Amino acid sequence: MKLSPEIETLVPYKPGKPISETKREYGVQNVIKLGSNENPLGTSPKVVAALKNALSQLHLYPDPACFELLDVIAKKWGISKSWLSVGNGSNEIIDLLIRIFCEPGDQILTTDKAFLAYAICAQAARVGCRLAPLAPGFNTDLKAMSKILLEDPQADKIKLVFIPNPNNPTGTYVSDAEICHFLKQHGNDPNRLIIFDEAYTEYVRASDYSSAMGHMKAFSSVVVIRTLSKAYGLAGLRVGILCAPPMVIDYFNRVRNPFNVNDLAQVAAVAALQDDEFIRRSVANNALGLDNFYAELQKMKLPFVESQGNFVMFDTLRDVSAVNEALLKRGVILRPILNYGFKTEMRMSVGLPEENQVAIQALREVMSEISPIK
Ligand code: PMP
Repeated sequence: MKLSPEIETLVPYKPGKPISETKREYGVQNVIKLGSNENPLGTSPKVVAALKNALSQLHLYPDPACFELLDVIAKKWGISKSWLSVGNGSNEIIDLLIRIFCEPGDQILTTDKAFLAYAICAQAARVGCRLAPLAPGFNTDLKAMSKILLEDPQADKIKLVFIPNPNNPTGTYVSDAEICHFLKQHGNDPNRLIIFDEAYTEYVRASDYSSAMGHMKAFSSVVVIRTLSKAYGLAGLRVGILCAPPMVIDYFNRVRNPFNVNDLAQVAAVAALQDDEFIRRSVANNALGLDNFYAELQKMKLPFVESQGNFVMFDTLRDVSAVNEALLKRGVILRPILNYGFKTEMRMSVGLPEENQVAIQALREVMSEISPIK
């Protein structure tokens, strides 16, 4: 069968290495996984209790409208339900938005080193992906994005703009002032959506950061995507939230599968969204962990990028494949980010304090074992 070149050449997203695989391949008993930006505190105990109660309903189809879940989100965020929908993780939302709003031959615009799902989903939909250059320090450059939208001869093909804020794997962000400036030029364009992917928003400490949700009323093309996979600790159940003008929500609900968010996921999400204390603990653990990583990386003289997420990108200054192998032999899973074109950098998620300590100790040993190439 002849397939399109986009499908033939599609390279799937490479998720973090699972613990079971690492144990099997490296013969190690104790494995620490700081490779997938998961919540080291696990899941809220309130979620676990709600899930136990829901186990008797597994023979029933889930509520396709996600009525209760949308109700909870609407109240919590002060947004009308007509502005909300949900996805099987935010990854599905990214995928569906591209399928809905772009036709083959259209383009999306994001930045160099942006979360790879945008480019992968675009390619799968036969849609081109334009990458704006970054500002120094791996910072998203909204001015460079704006220049492409205003001056590029093919700009009318760009239907969606993806701004990961903060971005993964770099951990960088754009300030509210930069967003305001950008939206004044592009926020009310009827032919294009500006999508802010705020997967890590709960962790942000930068004082000049604001969620783009505050701009949705004034700017009709603004869309915000959130996830419960990170601070809410529900990565395994797959719940993403789409916040967009009712017209966008209407098309999204037409195209999404009716049961895209399963019953247990809905039950868990309702409980998770109501446990603010769990989020506070998750965010506090993250802040402590990041500060500790910064201090330790500085001691090892390894350059890093200050992060607004639950991970830090740092430069091992060494061949990252060799570093990764040596870490895995010690039972420590971090994330090499070669698929983003980073040959010596790695991403390390924040774990529990004791996990962070083991990871740092392993990293220290590996740094003295392998010679720098930079
Ligand atoms: N956006 C960003 C920036 C991410 O880093 C991730 C997860 N790695 C996602 C979206 C997707 O998360 P999920 O599908 O679990 O909601």
